[in-house]
Amino acid sequence: MQKIGPLLIVEGANNSKVPFSRSLYIESEKLLIDTGAEAESLVKLEKEKGINIIYNTHYHPDHTRHNYLFPSTKKLINRVEFDTCHSLEKVANQNGITQEWGLEGMKEWAESIPESWIKGISGFNGSYEYEREMDYEHIKLIFLHTPGHTKGYSCPYFPDLGVVYTGDYDMTSFGPWYNGADGSIEQFIQSGERLLSLDAKTYITGHQKGIFTKEKFKEEMVQFLAIIEKRDEIITQYVQKGLTFEEIASIGIFYPKKALDNKILYTWERIGIRKHLKRLGYSTEGANHNLVQKQ
Ligand SMILES: [Zn+2]
Repeated sequence: MQKIGPLLIVEGANNSKVPFSRSLYIESEKLLIDTGAEAESLVKLEKEKGINIIYNTHYHPDHTRHNYLFPSTKKLINRVEFDTCHSLEKVANQNGITQEWGLEGMKEWAESIPESWIKGISGFNGSYEYEREMDYEHIKLIFLHTPGHTKGYSCPYFPDLGVVYTGDYDMTSFGPWYNGADGSIEQFIQSGERLLSLDAKTYITGHQKGIFTKEKFKEEMVQFLAIIEKRDEIITQYVQKGLTFEEIASIGIFYPKKALDNKILYTWERIGIRKHLKRLGYSTEGANHNLVQKQ
């Protein structure tokens, strides 16, 4: 496990690739951030060093994956998503499932999700506030509100250490993810820029690549955010060729075409395209939802 000062970086399986993620552990405070790391490592930490409190950056399953392993530990999530986690219907709404497929689709989805995940997100004891400096004995910690990936998304920032955990600002070639109904392209860009403005020297991503210096993170962020413009261009071209929304949604712009057989990935593909269309001044509303029209 890598260490940065008092922060222990706990890897997830498969280089913390989705559906796994990195967790952070601070021994002096017995504090864990996110539970997407390997179950074995997390359980070992609890046994050998103890975990008094778990903070989750947001409700997505790759970051709350192993919450269920700690039923009696205090678990907090950001203020915005605490409410979401109270019901599966709300989670379905935030993911855009109900909007795309109606109540039937929502029920079908609810039956398909693993029990452990439901246990994980229904086990929160409370929420934490954003932008408030938590003064622990050995560290200071602020949860920055960095919406875009989800509405309530937060990045834990350690001002004294100059370290920030950027989670889903992961700089992977997939590019920015804002494909739930609670995601926003504009906010994703703004929050990305905010991360660069921090007085930080080390950036830790939640998936794959890992640890960056500020300089390197800045370079990567430019390329990462540029993927949004590339998606704009691709979608514009298809619209100009006269493709319908359904046709554009079946191409595989975010996800590989073959991955669209997976219902939830297909849902996020559709929502992502809708967000770009809206941003580009197009709409799929009106009598024929399948047609893309100038707004
Ligand atoms: Zn996420």
